[in-house]
Amino acid sequence: MSAEVQGHWARKRFGQNFLRDPNIIRRIVAAIDPKPGEHLVEIGPGLGALTEPLIEAAGYLTAIELDRDLAARLRERFPHERLRLIEGDALRFDFATLPAPLRVVGNLPYNVSTPLLFHLAAYAERLTDMTFMLQKEVVDRMAAQPGSADYGRLSVMLQLRFAVRKCFDVPPGAFVPAPKVTSSIVRITPLPAGAHALADAELFTRLVTAAFNQRRKTLRNALKALLPEQNLFLQAEIDPNARAETLAVEDFVRLANALARPPTVGQ
Ligand code: SAM
Repeated sequence: MSAEVQGHWARKRFGQNFLRDPNIIRRIVAAIDPKPGEHLVEIGPGLGALTEPLIEAAGYLTAIELDRDLAARLRERFPHERLRLIEGDALRFDFATLPAPLRVVGNLPYNVSTPLLFHLAAYAERLTDMTFMLQKEVVDRMAAQPGSADYGRLSVMLQLRFAVRKCFDVPPGAFVPAPKVTSSIVRITPLPAGAHALADAELFTRLVTAAFNQRRKTLRNALKALLPEQNLFLQAEIDPNARAETLAVEDFVRLANALARPPTVGQ
């Protein structure tokens, strides 16, 4: 059943769960820590729970909202010198049309969170950071470190380009309507250009995918098809009897680069 919030019927298809807990809203804004003059972009402002305190702190905000009714309400509530409201789909938005550097924030609908992260990754050099509310389970996988059960393909692919830090959990009761699962706030900061240089990005993705597809197997076995040459492990200083979940991002980078640039005979 849908819920009515401040005269708006929450739309499930747009992933609408509105923040209502003032304490949590304060903590999220404190985690973002907006400063006057910074260029913040909020994805999915909804009924404005975060929009208002963000505008108060930064002075000006750009927001992207897909729901036409909510966009109209926000336009009425905030003057355009304070809020630039873009009505449309954040997944299709060209972030290069906004002046950099950008700080992107948002309480994201669960169904768009992963595609949006990949969409935004293409603009990494224009971003100062991103602070998002996502499903806790996804945040735990994004921020996981080697050796933990949550560490996997998502952790490695994201941490290749970003520093990922979980801030805190948010219980379902902080929203109306309440979602079924716990959420978490995560801070994602692009690493400096040139960190983790890859000889072949596509090969890196294939290697990481293959290693975690059979995460219980040793790397020697999990990567048999990709790395038949045992001395590439040696060259990358990786133990072939180790498992994927014990390798740090830089270990995967060394292994992928050794595979992309195998030594020529006689070297
Ligand atoms: N920020 C508000 C809050 O915290 O109360 C609303 C959060 S609600 C989880 C997600 C918001 O994103 C909704 O307002 C929804 O209409 C909007 N939305 C959903 N898909 C979107 C998309 N692809 N692009 C932009 N906004 C979207």
